[in-house]
Amino acid sequence: MVIVMQEGAEEAQIQAVIDRLVAMGFDVHRSTGVRHTLLGAVGAKVDFDVRDLEVLDGVTEVLRISAPYKLASRAFRPQGTLVGLGKVQIGGPRVVVMAGPCSVESRDQINRIADLVAAGGAQVIRGGAFKPRSSPYSFQGLGEEGLRLLREAADRNGLLVISEVMDQTQIPLVSQYADILQVGARNMQNFFLLKELGKATRPVLLKRGISATIEEWLLSAEYILSGGNYNVILCERGIRTFENYTRNTLDISAIPVIHKLSHLPIVADPSHGTGRRDKVAPMGRAAVAAGADGLLVEVHHDPDHALSDGAQSLKPEQFHELMQQLRMIAPAVGRTI
Ligand code: PEP
Ligand code: MN
Repeated sequence: MVIVMQEGAEEAQIQAVIDRLVAMGFDVHRSTGVRHTLLGAVGAKVDFDVRDLEVLDGVTEVLRISAPYKLASRAFRPQGTLVGLGKVQIGGPRVVVMAGPCSVESRDQINRIADLVAAGGAQVIRGGAFKPRSSPYSFQGLGEEGLRLLREAADRNGLLVISEVMDQTQIPLVSQYADILQVGARNMQNFFLLKELGKATRPVLLKRGISATIEEWLLSAEYILSGGNYNVILCERGIRTFENYTRNTLDISAIPVIHKLSHLPIVADPSHGTGRRDKVAPMGRAAVAAGADGLLVEVHHDPDHALSDGAQSLKPEQFHELMQQLRMIAPAVGRTI
């Protein structure tokens, strides 16, 4: 960290900042320039609040150099993390497609969709059994019955299962049926849930919060990693911006940013990222071109009658077309699909 003192800062002010840094556990290196005094603070300390220094008399600016997360940082595992689930690996050369409905609605529905996403080349089926709906009057999911149906449909097609866990009490139940536990955008900062997931035996897909910065998102991942669960997959699902033509703004730039800052794999969800079926394939293609390790995409055999998120669910033929396109794009960026 570098502390820039104001031009003409008094010696007593500079000394007070040095004393404060030393008390916080830093080694301080002073450099006196023509106009400004700079204080370089080095030390292993991660948990401090830069504002405590910014408010001291005579301080102009505080520049934090090291990230506030450690286990999630790229430096912790420069080679990257591979989340392995049998023959499926997330974070390796193959782009992993996780596809399925927003919610599990019935046996017939999930079986039809499982057949079609498996035929298209998906390796994981998605489907919510516990749904975080904005309105309490909307369909809330089938609960355990939904998980049972999802597992059955997946097994018939040799697919893995991803499903959402909304609070810590659901972890054992969802883990019984799902291979990957999804944390929804609204729960990205549910720290009790994240801590419990740190003890879970299943990989966790952590969605980016609706208004979360990349740093906040990585700090949430840090909660899971620091509990001992290193199998974390990040998912960019769009953030809220001033633009309201699309449901959210899919932050494609988060993909290369995460690859630079963290060793964790990152997938993109162009369905929640756009909210409109006709925008899903272009953004899915863009995400793979930008280096996403996978896609999480909503697909429905009859989206006009879906109980949730029909408008952003791909129709079967659209899903197959997207997969064809990804088969051309992935090799162009050194990946397979
Ligand atoms: C979902 O994947 O169905 C979902 C509810 O997503 P998010 O948490 O990103 O809104
Ligand atoms: Mn959805």
